[in-house]
Amino acid sequence: MVITLTEGDLFKALFDVIPYSIYLADISSLKILYMNKQMIKQRGNLVGRKCYKSIYGEPKQCLFCKNSELIDGERKPNNKMIVFECFNPVDDHWYQLHEKAITWPNGDIVKYAIAVNISELKETQNRLAEAHAQLALKNRELERLSATDHLTQAYNRLKIDELMREEVERAKRYQRVLSIIMIDIDHFKEVNDQYGHQTGDLVLKEIVSIINENSRNIDFLGRWGGEEFIIVCPETDITGVRIMAEKLRQKIEEFNFSIVKRKTASFGVACLTPEDDEESLIRKADESLYFAKNNGRNRVGN
Ligand code: GH3
Ligand code: MG
Ligand code: MG
Repeated sequence: MVITLTEGDLFKALFDVIPYSIYLADISSLKILYMNKQMIKQRGNLVGRKCYKSIYGEPKQCLFCKNSELIDGERKPNNKMIVFECFNPVDDHWYQLHEKAITWPNGDIVKYAIAVNISELKETQNRLAEAHAQLALKNRELERLSATDHLTQAYNRLKIDELMREEVERAKRYQRVLSIIMIDIDHFKEVNDQYGHQTGDLVLKEIVSIINENSRNIDFLGRWGGEEFIIVCPETDITGVRIMAEKLRQKIEEFNFSIVKRKTASFGVACLTPEDDEESLIRKADESLYFAKNNGRNRVGN
């Protein structure tokens, strides 16, 4: 027996095996003219109904409707295939739609739409975006942790070294002034010996708070060693840095520490000159601090 298929049968048979939803709608009346098997299985037979209402649950033509972009000025198909993504709240799925207008044998202009369900893809994309955001947050936190002294939350030695290198380079290149302050707590060992290590830790934290409260946002405070700190002060000359160190010295001297009550610190200051590099700048601040220690402590060195 020979089976002869009409064009219509062939078209229907082909469209019915495609695993995507396919429908045709009249561009003028917006009525659905055809749905393939896959779409009927999912949404029931909506042929004859308005596409916006029955497919998308909209009271009137969808805002995202692409019909006007599929026809030219004379209301003829412009041969363009428009591909876009849209979320359908009726069945709670994301679709990638491929739409094109064609002229029907009776002369009507008809749109065909192929809808590929991309919900799983969207879900994966969302999860990936979420994971990326989490990773970026974790990276930022790791970066912060790797630059921070765990006890005092000041910059750690590695980071303050790096910041100082950058600031020295910047000051030299743009001929800006730059100064540093070295701070060493006086007789700090006594705190540990007398009150214990934990109290010593508390003093270190309180010192950092005092410095933070009394320095500018552009200054960088780092923990240089055990009970030694360094402040990198951009745009500050020797007069300015002396004033700043003296202010900090007074604030520490006047501060009512939680357990030890009174504590003082000695200060070394240095200002970058054209001959200086980072090492010589630190050496000068160290010498200034040494002077302060040897001249009675609780003071700013020469
Ligand atoms: P000076 O006035 O000459 O600076 O005397 P000092 O006692 O402050 O100096 P010294 O260098 O003799 O002692 C520093 C002490 O700081 C010794 C060390 O145990 C203590 N120290 C260093 N790091 C920490 C810390 O993280 N926590 C505590 N509690 N103590 C620390
Ligand atoms: Mg010391
Ligand atoms: Mg000390």
